[in-house]
Amino acid sequence: MKLVYRMGLIGLAALGLIAVVVLYKLLSSPSLAAYTSLQTSSAPSSAHISAQFMGTTTILFDDGKTRILSDGFFSRPPIWRLLIGKIPPDERLINSALSKAGIKGLDAIFVAHTHHDHAMDTARVALKTGALVFGSLSTRNVVLGDGLSSDRITVFDDGKIYTLGDFTVTIFQTPHSPGVAFPGTVDHPLTVPASASEYREGGNFSFLLQHHSTSLLLVASGNFIPGKFKGVKADTVFLGIGGLGKQSEEFISDYWREVVQAVGAKVVIPVHWDDFTRSLDEPLRPMPYALDDFDNSMKSLLALAKRDNVQVRLPVAFETFGVN
Ligand SMILES: [Zn+2]
Repeated sequence: MKLVYRMGLIGLAALGLIAVVVLYKLLSSPSLAAYTSLQTSSAPSSAHISAQFMGTTTILFDDGKTRILSDGFFSRPPIWRLLIGKIPPDERLINSALSKAGIKGLDAIFVAHTHHDHAMDTARVALKTGALVFGSLSTRNVVLGDGLSSDRITVFDDGKIYTLGDFTVTIFQTPHSPGVAFPGTVDHPLTVPASASEYREGGNFSFLLQHHSTSLLLVASGNFIPGKFKGVKADTVFLGIGGLGKQSEEFISDYWREVVQAVGAKVVIPVHWDDFTRSLDEPLRPMPYALDDFDNSMKSLLALAKRDNVQVRLPVAFETFGVN
């Protein structure tokens, strides 16, 4: 009896240990160490457009005259705040990021969709920089709710084209990555602070930026519509890979074919791979294994890139690099 009791205790202890190891693994993040050779650097560039990545799909595109930002998400509330209560935009973190990026004025902000990790700071950034905001009807309601006046907001839809300085921006409606949290739309100006669940997706959009001989495509969310980019040409794709590591190899390869191959890209820059519950004061780290598998995404993307002779460059936060 004593032996059975002891065996039972040992079994329980072993199970407990396994649970701790599994939990530790799920909450930990892949290391970037294996990818340092792919990382972008701020080396001088002859390119006409520079890009600066600031985590998720917040990217500054600058030709020296016109400055276009996507999303503008800097508050990055921690996980406990996402789960409990409201998530106010954080003025200190927004100011600190704008200053670190050297952003004083902006011409426009294009918002991919209205989840908090894209749209929660957009109004504040627009107010601080003088930017006009372009987005869905839900984006309009999110930024109106945080104090941006309606004359600074343009509601776009699939196929719309805007000219800003020497940039032409074309809007493509593309689906959100599979398993979308908080679907639906934001139908009224959103009172801030709001909870994460109130930042409903509101439709997702990709952006084609053309500038003289340069053409780049930003796909903020990892999903596709077959044939959507038929006839579109872009040398560089900023490819949203949030959640991609949990998708099948077939899905990843279809995504690659319908975006990267479709537009004939020579360079792919993975974005939206970082853990957006960590402050930008800390170095970027991939999403924890519980939510994504960055190594799996990179393994598949690097194999496809090798096959198609495409260069993959991993952006480093706040480093400016040229886009040809
Ligand atoms: Zn989203």
